[in-house]
Amino acid sequence: MRIVRTIADLRALLRPLRAEGKRIGFVPTMGFLHEGHGTLIRQSAARCDATIVSIFLNPTQFGPGEDLASYPRDLEKDQNLCLEAGAGVLFLPEVSEIYPTGFQTHVEPGRLAEPLCGRFRPGHFRGVATVVAKLFNMVQPDLAFFGQKDFQQTVVIRRMARDLNMPVDIVVVPTVREADGLALSSRNAYLDEDARRRALCISQGLLAAKAAFDAGEHAAPRLIEIARDLLAGVDSIQYLELVDTQNLEPLTGQVDRTAALCAAAYVGRTRLIDNVLLAPSAADSGLVLNGNHPNA
Ligand code: AMP
Repeated sequence: MRIVRTIADLRALLRPLRAEGKRIGFVPTMGFLHEGHGTLIRQSAARCDATIVSIFLNPTQFGPGEDLASYPRDLEKDQNLCLEAGAGVLFLPEVSEIYPTGFQTHVEPGRLAEPLCGRFRPGHFRGVATVVAKLFNMVQPDLAFFGQKDFQQTVVIRRMARDLNMPVDIVVVPTVREADGLALSSRNAYLDEDARRRALCISQGLLAAKAAFDAGEHAAPRLIEIARDLLAGVDSIQYLELVDTQNLEPLTGQVDRTAALCAAAYVGRTRLIDNVLLAPSAADSGLVLNGNHPNA
């Protein structure tokens, strides 16, 4: 595995691969990698000839008072995970490499960035879309892999790729969970034993609603209520919403199309997000997870 820190070195490494017609897979991350990231990298390695992983703690997607300064880091462990999962190139740019002096051009996502996390993290998806667009321009991947864990992010990125005619296929990988259901997250490192126990309420609530849905309960208010009852163990629920996966608009009646039940909650000072997909038929679920042909 090659480690590069500059865009010039990255491009020099990728040029011959592209000339040989190799299929390039890309996994953007913010580091402190876990098996969720590992799964994305493995999927890319399985489907592509070369897998590029970036680790970049992107300052523009953090708001004031958020955890940019305290975000966990362990570069040595990250390198080993990338290597073991099959990455060929690890891109580790400095902030000044990505945002040189004078930087002033951004990607402004539209309505899809407004609800859910967008409501509580103003500017977050602008920061995400901008850095992902820049990384796509640097790597020029054929496929890029994102986790369903950050559901709204996948919707915003997929829309951006379509709207800006980026020749990349966005692959969304199902959320990887601990054996007890907790969604893997770099931010789980903030949780002590007691907080982790309370954090488990989030996945328990969402998965209970999904089980009820699969057992035939399709009324949106009831599904939200089932999740909310179990989520009561967290310190505060920032949002708990059932939305249409296409436009992120709230579903209030019967769930008759693929929906996402999305939650953000605080356990102590740690903000965690999670979601489950509710698909009226298996075929719909497959569409959400795999289908993306932005330029079709
Ligand atoms: P992050 O480093 O948190 O920016 O995440 C990098 C990528 O890994 C994003 O596409 C995330 O959605 C994805 N990811 C994070 N946690 C998980 C998880 N538990 N399962 C699957 N993908 C994940």
